[in-house]
Amino acid sequence: MTPHDVRELIVIGGGPAGYTAALYAARANLRPLLIEGIQWGGQLMITSDVENYPGYAEGVLGPAMMQDFRRQAERFGAEFLTDDVTRVDFSERPFRIYVGDGEHRAHAVIVATGANARQLGLDTELALQGRGVSYCAVCDAAFFRERDVVVVGGGDSAMEEATFLTKFATKVMVVHRRHEFRASPIMVDRARANEKIEILTPYVVDGVLGEDVGKVTGVVLRHVETGETREVPTDGVFVAIGHDPSTGLFLDALDHDEAGYLVTTPGSTETNVAGVFAAGDVQDHVYRQAVTAAGSGCMAALDAERFLTEQAHEQQAAVEHSAAQL
Ligand code: NAP
Repeated sequence: MTPHDVRELIVIGGGPAGYTAALYAARANLRPLLIEGIQWGGQLMITSDVENYPGYAEGVLGPAMMQDFRRQAERFGAEFLTDDVTRVDFSERPFRIYVGDGEHRAHAVIVATGANARQLGLDTELALQGRGVSYCAVCDAAFFRERDVVVVGGGDSAMEEATFLTKFATKVMVVHRRHEFRASPIMVDRARANEKIEILTPYVVDGVLGEDVGKVTGVVLRHVETGETREVPTDGVFVAIGHDPSTGLFLDALDHDEAGYLVTTPGSTETNVAGVFAAGDVQDHVYRQAVTAAGSGCMAALDAERFLTEQAHEQQAAVEHSAAQL
């Protein structure tokens, strides 16, 4: 296929949703191109053990799982471009997708660029990701049975994650930078009523301790008003300060909510542009799991296949109609 040919389908984004979409599309003979991003693999690349993905009975490392996803799509003929999309034009079909100066065209597109958990931005946080620093309590809480953990944040996610963590941890300290909480009062009240939860305000995390031993051993907290710092021993740090969907490229073309998540028709992956579909965390701020992202990648491939088949039928009917007029 030359760069000027029009593909049936291009998938943008190399995470669980994108690879699953590419797998299904490849098996449906759509010969998809997956523009997977330079940092392909998505959030699983900063996850160590994954124990809740069905089929991996012994668990799997996040990056190894993404390699498996990629290899499986490749086995059925999906092609990959390991680069970042820089611009899209969804104003007419075929759609145009640009990677630098390179133009790629397709009759259908699946957007699966995911979302990123916000990070505190500390070097020590980066160094200990997957070694006690986590961005997903549902994924990692079970590793902290009878341990002490810190949850950072003051929104509903932080309250929900703190409460969930008490099923496993001995003690959960919620660290929030203000006295007031963004979380709904009922969620705050539930956390306050839980005797395993201690709430520390107004504090920020200045550093994560444990780099020397390769796992989290504590945090440095700074009191926002007095500037006083203190070290608090802990085994884990759950950063729950929100997520940002990777949708900057699509905001002009596709309907989205206030936070930037793409809006799809309920029960499908259709966006407001016929032929453009959205799958995975880019349109899901509720579940955010690898397995739900993979499931919606499958849905998007099936939706795209159906769309392409309908388009082909319509074109065929139009050709037959004009032939009959002659
Ligand atoms: P959020 O509402 O944006 O809250 C983020 C929290 O993190 C805020 O308290 C914020 O502090 C803090 N924060 C942000 N950046 C920080 C930084 N660099 N350092 C320290 N703290 C920082 O995000 P969310 O909690 O993930 O919730 C997102 C949306 O999902 C919300 O609409 C929420 O209601 C919804 N949600 C609902 C449920 C539920 O109903 N069960 C559960 C989870 C999420 P400030 O307040 O000082 O800005």
